[in-house]
Amino acid sequence: MSNEKNQKTRKDQLINLKFLKERLETEPKNCELLFQTASLIVTLCQSEENPVKKLSRIQITVPLIARFQEVCASEDERGAEILKVARALEMEAREDCSSKMEISLETSLACNSSTRQAILSVCAETLRIFENKFGNSSPVLGRKPILIVQATDGVPRAVINDLPRRYTVALTCLEGTGARGRIPQILFQASHELLHVFVDPRIDHPVVEIAAIAVSLVCLKIFAQRLAGSPHALKFASYLKSVKRGAPKDLSIFDTTLQNRATQLSLAIHLEPAFERYDWKALQRVGECLELGSQVPGLEWTKWERIAPESPLIRALRHSCVCEKSTSPGTPSSPSC
Ligand SMILES: [Zn+2]
Repeated sequence: MSNEKNQKTRKDQLINLKFLKERLETEPKNCELLFQTASLIVTLCQSEENPVKKLSRIQITVPLIARFQEVCASEDERGAEILKVARALEMEAREDCSSKMEISLETSLACNSSTRQAILSVCAETLRIFENKFGNSSPVLGRKPILIVQATDGVPRAVINDLPRRYTVALTCLEGTGARGRIPQILFQASHELLHVFVDPRIDHPVVEIAAIAVSLVCLKIFAQRLAGSPHALKFASYLKSVKRGAPKDLSIFDTTLQNRATQLSLAIHLEPAFERYDWKALQRVGECLELGSQVPGLEWTKWERIAPESPLIRALRHSCVCEKSTSPGTPSSPSC
């Protein structure tokens, strides 16, 4: 089945589940209804890749099955069967939730062992920043090992070919002489791609790009602050400065479709304080707010704000991406902004 068809089926199943749950509220002892609801949740869990979501979903099923067994004929074997499947899924999800997202480097990478160690420790430290900023919630596609490789085409990216087994992150600056001196650049690229990993590397959207650039700026700043007083701090700070210098000064040349890299960088710089201050959890809901099936899908901002109501980050993103770009500098924003 194609990916789009899968999404459609899943959407239908979720609508159906909502309907069944509503009916259960008025008919809590309806055996067929109890069985159908429990079976549907088990089916949804089987295709759920995020172990955290899987675990919380399957935990609703167990009491439903218990109620089914209690109120319906105890000789109905369907209850025992589905309970067995639910328990197995629960154990699997628990294991996935506790598994570590270990980072490793491609073994064939042409660099010496001390450089390898330096790259690995920067990446591991960055991952800790992410786990902290995402409140320990797993990436949308689940916790998996991350392999860092040299990009063969000169473009850093979160590669999706190795899913669902692992995340692969291709960076451009790992090999060759002086890799050690490029640690700030490695951090900048790695943190950008890690954001894709956490949000869902299959999503290609300019707002996610802006977020990825903003988190890399924040990570560079964190490293510069943590190492304050050492010569390494200066390297991170000056790399951060040089990245920011690439942003256009003239806001009127903003590309309103947000596709232009310079526009994305300007917005990311503008949003850096918000990304520094707030957690990044709500970014993981972006996939639920995109129109499916198009290269650059539209984004339902209102829905995003509704499903992540506690997030000032989404409000800040919306304000910068929708309001600021639609008004020329100095003009007041429209009332809806
Ligand atoms: Zn990107």
